[in-house]
Amino acid sequence: QAKAAGRDRYRRYDPDLHARQQARHEIAWALPQALARGELFVEYQPMVRADDGRLHGVEALARWRHPRLGLVAPAQFIPVAEEHGMIGAVGRFVLRTACAQAGTWHTRHPGRRLIMSVNLAPAQTDDPALPVLVAGLLAQHGIDPAMLQLEITESSMMPTAGPALDTLRALARLGVRIAIDDFGTGYANLTNLRSLPVHHLKIPRQFVTAPVDEFAERVDCALVDTVVRLARSLGLGVIAEGVESQAQATLLRRLGCDVFQGYVYGKPQSPDAIEARLSASPGRAP
Ligand code: C2E
Ligand code: MG
Ligand code: MG
Ligand code: MG
Repeated sequence: QAKAAGRDRYRRYDPDLHARQQARHEIAWALPQALARGELFVEYQPMVRADDGRLHGVEALARWRHPRLGLVAPAQFIPVAEEHGMIGAVGRFVLRTACAQAGTWHTRHPGRRLIMSVNLAPAQTDDPALPVLVAGLLAQHGIDPAMLQLEITESSMMPTAGPALDTLRALARLGVRIAIDDFGTGYANLTNLRSLPVHHLKIPRQFVTAPVDEFAERVDCALVDTVVRLARSLGLGVIAEGVESQAQATLLRRLGCDVFQGYVYGKPQSPDAIEARLSASPGRAP
């Protein structure tokens, strides 16, 4: 009883909780206008090859600059967009922007074969119209399908049948690459790896960032090692996220990761910054 009363009081008077709820409401209310007003934009984070350090591609990441709230993190507005049925519109914006950008880079830097990686929310992979949209964008911007990578979450591969699997198979038939983002942090139905056209597994930052102690370090190594072995035996590539130091890169390279992404190779950045990189070092990541 006292506990319940305490919890109730906590609920009612916690200023942080109140502020968080307020922020969620504000985000849900402002998001529909954000698209129309051009407040959403996309940044691109470099991915480099583990063997020679060359630029492998970029991951497109959604950004929102609200006139009063400032920069709103995707961790804040993507879940709200999903909850309020707006993720389709946000996702289409990111996909269109990223494909237009990929078309521009492929035209300006022919032969670079830069991969453009775009995140898909589960609601998008449930949408049977997605392959038509993607096919249209590939054609419109003259993009080699193999240069587009779509990052799905483990929950997109949960159903053993249904729209998500059909959509993913249709996407794969277009020739685009499919990567599973943050592999090992969700509830994947691993048997679906058999029937799903997956090309890469992305190792999440949680397995990679500086571990707190020796045991955690051993666990992280074991997790990365396990994902790499699974990928190898299935013929899939491995991308490690959240690489923040050369020491981590050395370890991840030894464990067999093919591609690195992380602050040590560049934060998410403007198209101009990526363009400068492409022009400054033809064929090579600086
Ligand atoms: P994600 O797809 O796993 O993207 C990687 C996140 O890790 C990005 O955060 C990136 O900025 C961050 N990151 C990369 N390297 C490092 C590093 O070395 N250290 C640290 N501490 N962080 C690093 P971001 O941009 O805040 O995005 C967070 C998540 O929001 C993404 O995780 C993704 O799940 C979601 N998201 C972002 N854009 C989109 C989108 O267009 N559509 C969908 N559905 N989700 C998106
Ligand atoms: Mg991602
Ligand atoms: Mg993620
Ligand atoms: Mg990730």
